[in-house]
Amino acid sequence: MEFRDLKKQYQVLKKDIDAQISDVAESAHFISGPQVAELEEKLASYVGVQYCISCANGTDALTLALMAWGVGPGDAVFVSDFTFFSSGECPAAEGATPIFVDVDRRSYNMDPAKLEEAVQKVIAEGKYTPKAVVAVDLYGLPADYTRLKPLCDKYHLLLLEDGAQGFGGSINGKMACSFGDIGTTSFFPAKPLGCYGDGGAVFTDNDEWAALIRSYAVHGKSKTNKYDNLRIGKNSRLDTIQAAILLTKLDAFKDYELQEVNRVANLYQNALQGCGYILPEVPEEFVSSWAQYTIQLPKGTDRSALQAKLKSKNIPSMVYYMIPMHLQKAFAGTDSAVADCPVTEELCGTVLSLPMGPYVTEEDVECVVKALTEA
Ligand SMILES: *Cc1c(COP(=O)(O)O)cnc(C)c1O
Repeated sequence: MEFRDLKKQYQVLKKDIDAQISDVAESAHFISGPQVAELEEKLASYVGVQYCISCANGTDALTLALMAWGVGPGDAVFVSDFTFFSSGECPAAEGATPIFVDVDRRSYNMDPAKLEEAVQKVIAEGKYTPKAVVAVDLYGLPADYTRLKPLCDKYHLLLLEDGAQGFGGSINGKMACSFGDIGTTSFFPAKPLGCYGDGGAVFTDNDEWAALIRSYAVHGKSKTNKYDNLRIGKNSRLDTIQAAILLTKLDAFKDYELQEVNRVANLYQNALQGCGYILPEVPEEFVSSWAQYTIQLPKGTDRSALQAKLKSKNIPSMVYYMIPMHLQKAFAGTDSAVADCPVTEELCGTVLSLPMGPYVTEEDVECVVKALTEA
């Protein structure tokens, strides 16, 4: 069994993907080919925002958003403590200070009450200027934007939605990557919508930020001339081949893959009910794109031993994430290491992600559940 079966997906889409790749090769328009603009248009329309700017990866997408906002030294950026490293790495790389905020133990996403506490603490201490929030749609479930957005407004904070795992999710029909002042995603192969290498995108309705991000992504170029450089930027583009592959994969994602991952999640949910694990919960009006299906093991379970047992039955499993952000060595000795995040600390010891994806079969789920209940 595969943890995320990208080989199976390729077999299903092979004819179209091969044609897309060879079209790009024949045209030799490898950078900024017409497929890139076509994809950006389709992504913006799917997400329901005015602008989509594609870029080299999901980490750059976060960085480009922070650059457009001028986030830098002296700024505090509030980031979920339970996430992939990029969410905190990017503000730190811009010179800002990430302040890590604990998560809700059922949604795995930033706890709005904990955000407000952290903001008030930073204001009271007066060392940093509260500037922005990086909310993460962990495992495919949108963060609690109905509560996070009003808090950002109350404290005049910019809201950055890290939708690297969230693409395709929604709240009340409003799509992930549209909840922040800026939203970002990643097309890393194993994400809900993945390409065949690295890729990412930035989403916003704001004209000025969109123009700045387009400029920063290509060496700070002016609007009309690539060799007229107005600011220090980056080289962060999505290759034409990746855009062409994504055009085919976006159709599959919209047509059936998003439904299929929800079918698989329901199979797990029903089969694992009452087995002693805490199962992921999707609140009413929310849709998850199931980047991961993550359960919590009873406290005190030997997780490595369980993973080894699963592996002996050819079932891969993963731990996302093992280390809270505030305890990552990269932040040791900085103000970012000081955080009150007991829920994240506990989750890092108990979470386990199971094989997931649109091509997981009913037999696969039965096999995983059987192995889990026997263990
Ligand atoms: C994958 C991921 C990123 C980074 O995306 P890359 O394309 O790998 O740079 C950022 N944030 C989160 C939450 C992610 O899962």
